[in-house]
Amino acid sequence: MFFNTYYKINRTNALEQTVSQIEKNIKEKNYDKLFNDLSMNNEVCIQIVDKNKLVYYSDYYKSCAGKDDTGLKNIKEDFMKSDEKYLKLEFINNMYNNKSLVYGKKLDNIYIFANTSLEPMDKSIQLLKKQFIYVAITVLLLSFIISYYFARRIAEPILSISKEAKKLGNKSKDAKFVCNTEVYELKELSNTLNEAAKELSKTDELRREFLANVSHDLKTPLTMIEAYAASARDLNYNNKKKRERDLNIIIDEAERLNMLVNDILLLSKIENEESKLEIEDIDIKDFINTILERFAIYKNDGYEFIFNEKDTYIIEADKKGLERVIYNLINNAINYTGSDKKVEIKFEKNRNNLTIKIIDTGKGIEEKNKKLVWNKYFRINKRHRREVRGTGLGLSIVKEILEEHKFEYGIDSKINKGTCFWFKCKIKNNNKKFPIL
Ligand code: ADP
Repeated sequence: MFFNTYYKINRTNALEQTVSQIEKNIKEKNYDKLFNDLSMNNEVCIQIVDKNKLVYYSDYYKSCAGKDDTGLKNIKEDFMKSDEKYLKLEFINNMYNNKSLVYGKKLDNIYIFANTSLEPMDKSIQLLKKQFIYVAITVLLLSFIISYYFARRIAEPILSISKEAKKLGNKSKDAKFVCNTEVYELKELSNTLNEAAKELSKTDELRREFLANVSHDLKTPLTMIEAYAASARDLNYNNKKKRERDLNIIIDEAERLNMLVNDILLLSKIENEESKLEIEDIDIKDFINTILERFAIYKNDGYEFIFNEKDTYIIEADKKGLERVIYNLINNAINYTGSDKKVEIKFEKNRNNLTIKIIDTGKGIEEKNKKLVWNKYFRINKRHRREVRGTGLGLSIVKEILEEHKFEYGIDSKINKGTCFWFKCKIKNNNKKFPIL
């Protein structure tokens, strides 16, 4: 489309350059050779005449456009007669019948003329033009085919992924992201979505399990409270001993209910980021001893709590949060310890860090469950055991609180030997030790 315009600009530049080169070198001795080269290289015809039309130099002996052309001759003569300094004119070359351009300049007594054809006459250029069209069409076709091929390769898996994602959105269990493609990103995407689908179905399963557990946990104490209240009212109202037993069971069951509801409320509060940490200094040894006092009642059932640390340390934490962490971990240790009923609490100091360990002698936790126990509603033993108090929320509450504090935490466990739940906190004023009194 732009070939002719481009060619015209190119030719005009060639003419201007030629004339200015001639002007520069007109006084050179071997101007003849110089101008021949110029004419050849720039593909223009040159003629230099003086004002008496005496030809000073001409390359019209070559098959130059304009040779013997009366039209061009007249244009030049008109210019020489005029007072103009420059000539730039498009004209029709009668000899070749094509459009041409003449460029002229007047220097004192000399006139320099250069002219050239404005139409690419060369057959090869015409051929090239045609070839350009063929090449363009071929490239266009090829690029269409290639892009169609790639689009299919990319679009098809994306369509299949989005179809499966819709299924997943509708909570369908059989959403499977199969991706038969070599495109790495799409493979990654379908793998990630498969993982997400797996996680979703796991969460769903856990949620259902939790609901079953919670409703069972809520229902049993309520039934018991109802039954024992009726018994205290109707049967044992004048038997002091029996009445007190009934009332104690009612209080116990109410406590159990309270614990469950509190756990659910606390977790939802932490998850909704409603709770704010109130960091304060805590003397950790005192703190643990106070918590252990709450478990003293278990000593009557033969439980033994080993906490023999001599030194204490000041750590910075949210009191309520930390209490909950230690309480839940000790509570779990009691629930899951071995037949020797031992629970040990230990410190491990390393420079500025204090690791607090809660150790039991129970069945231990298998490697594959070590990550899962921190999940909400997860319980290794799915069968509900009434003697084990728990909601499956204890460790997820611990995890949320420890992560809020940015404390490291983990589980070391040996099957049939026992489990150690630990978390690491920073010691404040490391040098300052509090001697035991
Ligand atoms: P739960 O109320 O069921 O104790 P948790 O969140 O506290 O809920 O614990 C989740 C699960 O992790 C428990 O059901 C139990 O299977 C396992 N677990 C927790 N602590 C221990 C432990 N000290 N030893 C063995 N298993 C444990």
